[in-house]
Amino acid sequence: MKYLSAKSKLNIESQDGGFTTTFLGYCLEREILDAVVVVKSKNWKPIAYLATNTVELLESPKSKYSISPNNKLLEYATENYDKVGLVGLPCHILGGLQFDLTLKVGLFCTKNFYYDTIKSIIKERFGVNIDEVYKMNITKGKFVVETLKREGFAKTEKVVYEIPIKEIEKLCNLGCRVCTDFSAKYADVSVGSVGSEDGWNTVIVRNKMAEEIINDMVDKGLIEIKEEVDIKAVEKLEDIKKKNEEINKCSAYFAVCPALF
Ligand SMILES: Cc1cc2nc3c(=O)[nH]c(=O)nc-3n(C[C@H](O)[C@H](O)[C@H](O)COP(=O)(O)OP(=O)(O)OC[C@H]3O[C@@H](n4cnc5c(N)ncnc54)[C@H](O)[C@@H]3O)c2cc1C
Ligand code: SF4
Repeated sequence: MKYLSAKSKLNIESQDGGFTTTFLGYCLEREILDAVVVVKSKNWKPIAYLATNTVELLESPKSKYSISPNNKLLEYATENYDKVGLVGLPCHILGGLQFDLTLKVGLFCTKNFYYDTIKSIIKERFGVNIDEVYKMNITKGKFVVETLKREGFAKTEKVVYEIPIKEIEKLCNLGCRVCTDFSAKYADVSVGSVGSEDGWNTVIVRNKMAEEIINDMVDKGLIEIKEEVDIKAVEKLEDIKKKNEEINKCSAYFAVCPALF
């Protein structure tokens, strides 16, 4: 296992460094993958779909902070294509293990929300309609929303709204409260932002196949990489999630032994 900071050299409007989209685009172009399950959105409501070329893939960049039914497509995808990839949160990657996938790209994740919940938070806390949002992010303990204010033809100003994540974390999906995986440990390659400087991705290279692809992408000038990663920052979030293992063990005990209590 190896940690890297990475950034795309392509001009893609992405969430962080654009490593994910560039990596998947390379895999489709080189026919390492025939198709990959990714997420686009309508007014930030996730829509899972199967991209079979880079034009389709380019509808997917940026993080949508609500649950996307990616794995519903895996049965169709694996029946109709030989080399199928999946990009998803740690829970998607775990569920994806029951399919014969060529490549799994996991995203770091601390929590996620129901679509209606995130829509109400943005309206109630910032007075912003979700269709006005340009980008959202959970970073450095804050939930951050950006909109674009256009003035005339030439000037576009970014407006940033933020609140401490603590103020809304209790509204997250129920499953996220007992989730134990932050860094998608069953993926071939895991991608996030924590641990790297702004505009870069932290990448955990988990096997030889992922390493060879990344090396070739560097040789071809598609990405730049460096080895300075704050691994402790990643491990801290992994440890917070691991604490849920103990809670889950207790819940399972109460669930399977109701007669005892
Ligand atoms: C709900 C959520 C929570 C996250 N929490 C953290 C965190 O706490 N810390 C951290 O460091 N990183 C977190 N991330 C990951 C981070 O936001 C970026 O996705 C990651 O850094 C990759 O950036 P990129 O520029 O390479 O992505 P891009 O190149 O912009 O590509 C984004 C990819 O994400 C996929 N995607 C978007 N929304 C979803 C979704 N809802 N479900 C599944 N796949 C999706 C798209 O298909 C696309 O392939 C989270 C992501 C999500 C979606
Ligand atoms: S916190 Fe866990 S369960 Fe919730 S979306 Fe993220 S990976 Fe899935």
